[in-house]
Amino acid sequence: MIHKTSVQVVIVGGGIAGLWLLDRLSNQGMDVVLLEKNGLGNKQTLSSQGIIHGGLKYALNGVLSPASSAIAGMPERWRACLDGRGEVDLRGTRILSEHYYMWSTGSMRSRLKTFLGSKALRGRIDALPPAEYPAFFSEAMSRDKVKPGGTVYKLSDFVVDTPSLLQTLASRWYQNIRHCDHVQLEQSSQDAGHQNTLLRIQSGTQEIVVDAAHIILCAGEGNEDLLAHWQAPAGIKKPAMQRRPLHMVSVRVKHAAPAYLHCIGDSFGMTPRLTITSHPCLDSRDGEWIWYLGGDIAESGVHRDAQSQQTMAHKELSALFPWVDFSDASWHSFFINRAEPHVADLQRPDNAYVEECGNVIVCWPTKLTLSPNLGDRVSAILAARDRTDTSGNTAGSHLATLLAPANLSTPPWEAIR
Ligand SMILES: Cc1cc2nc3c(=O)[nH]c(=O)nc-3n(C[C@H](O)[C@H](O)[C@H](O)COP(=O)(O)OP(=O)(O)OC[C@H]3O[C@@H](n4cnc5c(N)ncnc54)[C@H](O)[C@@H]3O)c2cc1C
Repeated sequence: MIHKTSVQVVIVGGGIAGLWLLDRLSNQGMDVVLLEKNGLGNKQTLSSQGIIHGGLKYALNGVLSPASSAIAGMPERWRACLDGRGEVDLRGTRILSEHYYMWSTGSMRSRLKTFLGSKALRGRIDALPPAEYPAFFSEAMSRDKVKPGGTVYKLSDFVVDTPSLLQTLASRWYQNIRHCDHVQLEQSSQDAGHQNTLLRIQSGTQEIVVDAAHIILCAGEGNEDLLAHWQAPAGIKKPAMQRRPLHMVSVRVKHAAPAYLHCIGDSFGMTPRLTITSHPCLDSRDGEWIWYLGGDIAESGVHRDAQSQQTMAHKELSALFPWVDFSDASWHSFFINRAEPHVADLQRPDNAYVEECGNVIVCWPTKLTLSPNLGDRVSAILAARDRTDTSGNTAGSHLATLLAPANLSTPPWEAIR
């Protein structure tokens, strides 16, 4: 039997984009159901480093690019949400580090790059005197009497615990977050009175056709497949996606203080040599962290196999942090793609991407950080439609009763034993 139902807003995909919009639109009084095929946050969001960027990373060549300008206001927007003053309620989310640090390791070019970056972002970065170095360094200085060379800067960036972020958002609307096995966009027949795109959902033996005023695609890499199988109405141009492949490394290491820092290297590129975040894992013993490595090692590492990538990471870390003992560390690496809208020459998009295609809205936040920007853009589209469109029905609770709840996924570093 095929069920037919209607709802005002359906969101497909429960990463940060989908869950952020679910909270924001539900807070505005809309009737919203979110559909998730795997586990919430299953792909990019739980694999991300959780850094809420102030944009310095994108100004390392000394130029305040559109990317660094657009992103500059985001940490404040997030902080308002974390304090319960924002458009999305993030109270209860665990912050792993109130600051992110940048360390120029001492060579001339890396110092210059850092300096230029700091000028371009005046006010958002402070060079620290050694007495104010984060615990990660001060521990080395007091215990081993090592003084790290180069300069340490404190950025306005901070780091969120992504499992806790998703848990916070999901717990508010769990009754409207449902599992599906498969969804497909379909054109309604014209004699139905309007030409809205419909959503056909399969879950177990259930088949449901949903007439939604707004279908929001937040399926990350999954958007590509959804768009490929959609026969869009004439005149609608379907957006194209690009992938940015990464080979991430995680290391389980015993070290009292966690590390949150960009290590700026010697290359001419704009990517830090290493971007390190530290995460607790479920069975962490005392003083044990998972160090999670992005930056140039993850970008250039797509051409290495797992063994070579882990050996490379071991070499890099031992060279940079001679005071940390990696002899008992466990290593893990995995490949993952960042999913983004297609931009010429694989350039990084500057902003969250939101494209209106009839009653379908296609979203790629491109960064966790840009979720507030994504929310603004989607809200603006829905507000404009509200003035011209009266087609929205509100029976989300009916759709939700037809489907099982969706569960939270686990971050990739939990795979290390
Ligand atoms: C390794 C890595 C590190 C990163 N670090 C940072 C960082 O430190 N700071 C930052 O700002 N950004 C970072 N990013 C970028 C950021 O993680 C992403 O931009 C963001 O998480 C994308 O969120 P999303 O919700 O669009 O996609 P995803 O998190 O990929 O979520 C998509 C969801 O849709 C579901 N789905 C897929 N297909 C379907 C379907 N057909 N039906 C139903 N559900 C479906 C998936 O299961 C998944 O749950 C990083 C990305 C990566 C890969």
